[in-house]
Amino acid sequence: MSNDPIISIRGVSKTYSGGFQALKNINLEIRRGEIFALLGANGAGKTTLIGVICGIVNASAGSIIADGHDTVRDYRAVRAAIGLVPQELHTDAFESVWATVSFSRGLFGKPPNPDYVEKVLRDLSLWDKRDAKIMSLSGGMKRRVLIAKALAHEPTILFLDEPSAGVDVELRHDMWRMVRELRANGTTIILTTHYIEEAEDMADRIGVINKGELIIVEDKAVLMRKLGKKQLTLTLRQ
Ligand code: ATP
Repeated sequence: MSNDPIISIRGVSKTYSGGFQALKNINLEIRRGEIFALLGANGAGKTTLIGVICGIVNASAGSIIADGHDTVRDYRAVRAAIGLVPQELHTDAFESVWATVSFSRGLFGKPPNPDYVEKVLRDLSLWDKRDAKIMSLSGGMKRRVLIAKALAHEPTILFLDEPSAGVDVELRHDMWRMVRELRANGTTIILTTHYIEEAEDMADRIGVINKGELIIVEDKAVLMRKLGKKQLTLTLRQ
């Protein structure tokens, strides 16, 4: 990990149509190669912040540079650098696992690489299901496909939006193994979670978002020493 930021977020706010302010003047730098965990209660603004960084939600104010590109002006370049594993299980029901993952790779201009796609599918225990239609898969398998899709174009930044929600122990285990491997290969990882234990296990640094405000950004060890799990739990519930 280096202190060189791969994502710089400056003064970002988001007000949804209807007037609800989901993000309030967020300033944050994500370091190249780190695992950053964004903790927050339901509705705190985690998914909105990810959406804004990826350029799929328009910020109402502020600017974001991701992997050297402005998320608004250079949307395609930013998306090519980012792999996003969304919370919802929505994906192309009628396609096979292989076709879906290969297509995702092509979407970002990467030349076909069947060996790489095979590796991703094997790592996620999807190889035996490569010809299955997505709609025939269980929820856990669909989540694996979403992770494979996000990794298909070899992104430098990976976002995992509440990756543990509704996931069994085996998938969680596979996922965290992959995350550690990716990080060892230089990928920057940002995950959102409600679970302090998960952030404590996985992250280098932790951010806490509360009602749209980023109230804490700290190295994990420092934060746990300063607040401890109990105080952090209370902070999340505020
Ligand atoms: P959760 O942990 O429940 O997924 P979150 O921290 O990811 O929550 P967001 O999904 O970012 O929170 O939502 C933040 C706030 O913005 C919530 O109050 C939500 O209702 C509101 N919100 C999100 N999307 C929209 C939208 N499209 N229009 C209006 N309000 C929205």
